[in-house]
Amino acid sequence: MTEVLFLGTGNAFSPPGRLHALALLDRKVLIDAPPTLLTQLRKYSIHPSEINHLLFTHWHADHMFGFPFLMLEREWMPYNSGDKKPLNVYSRNGGKEILSHLCKIGFPGSLETSLNNGVIWNNEKENMLKGTDWKFYRFPVSHTPETDPHGYELIHSTGFTILHCGDSGPCHTIEERAVNANVVILEMGVPDFVSSPNHHNPSDVIEFSKRHPKVKVLVTHNFSHSSGNSGGFEIPNLPDDIHQLEDGDILKIIDKKKFKINRITK
Ligand SMILES: [Zn+2]
Ligand SMILES: [Zn+2]
Repeated sequence: MTEVLFLGTGNAFSPPGRLHALALLDRKVLIDAPPTLLTQLRKYSIHPSEINHLLFTHWHADHMFGFPFLMLEREWMPYNSGDKKPLNVYSRNGGKEILSHLCKIGFPGSLETSLNNGVIWNNEKENMLKGTDWKFYRFPVSHTPETDPHGYELIHSTGFTILHCGDSGPCHTIEERAVNANVVILEMGVPDFVSSPNHHNPSDVIEFSKRHPKVKVLVTHNFSHSSGNSGGFEIPNLPDDIHQLEDGDILKIIDKKKFKINRITK
């Protein structure tokens, strides 16, 4: 069965009970690399060497600062020392330079070989993800312009389609793709008293869901604490058909239309 595991569902402030937003498809495809990426993978017994593909949405620290740690572990603590497979990294033009610079600042002298031989750098805006049943299209979204923000339309071989919107406020590029999606993963980075073109607040999420009644909306990059936690912001009241993801939730895709959401508690 194909699945998406949510290894984190918090915004940049990592609210109580939530690590930074992070999604993993079929244990092989990561979307973004937050600072605590290694901790997040270990919590669910996934070795960093198992990751074959890494898709970047944009250049904010909560989405990219884990990259040097991922490279460090893959280079120096591989799962199986004879089996160092290159990592496919997908980003916009300039991503290789940004991520290499980050590695050189973080671990000078330790990752040069791995950046040259251990990564296949990809800039195409659409492609198959080799060795998986998924293909992707990258599209621009509305977020801090300096971070070159994008989302990913992920299409499974069955036709099941997930729209991962990265960090974004409401925008027409999400609207036009949502009509073909089964599931939309939407960020909700700010509470209702904040109105920003760069993020969805709870009212924006509710309005989006009303405009797309056939689509299942999964909320991540949440500004509120998780259930069973306190401190920070309270969990907003959203209609029952909108699912506010929590760390450890798994979207299990059953066929081209059917899915369910379970939770692994840790
Ligand atoms: Zn973010
Ligand atoms: Zn961001």
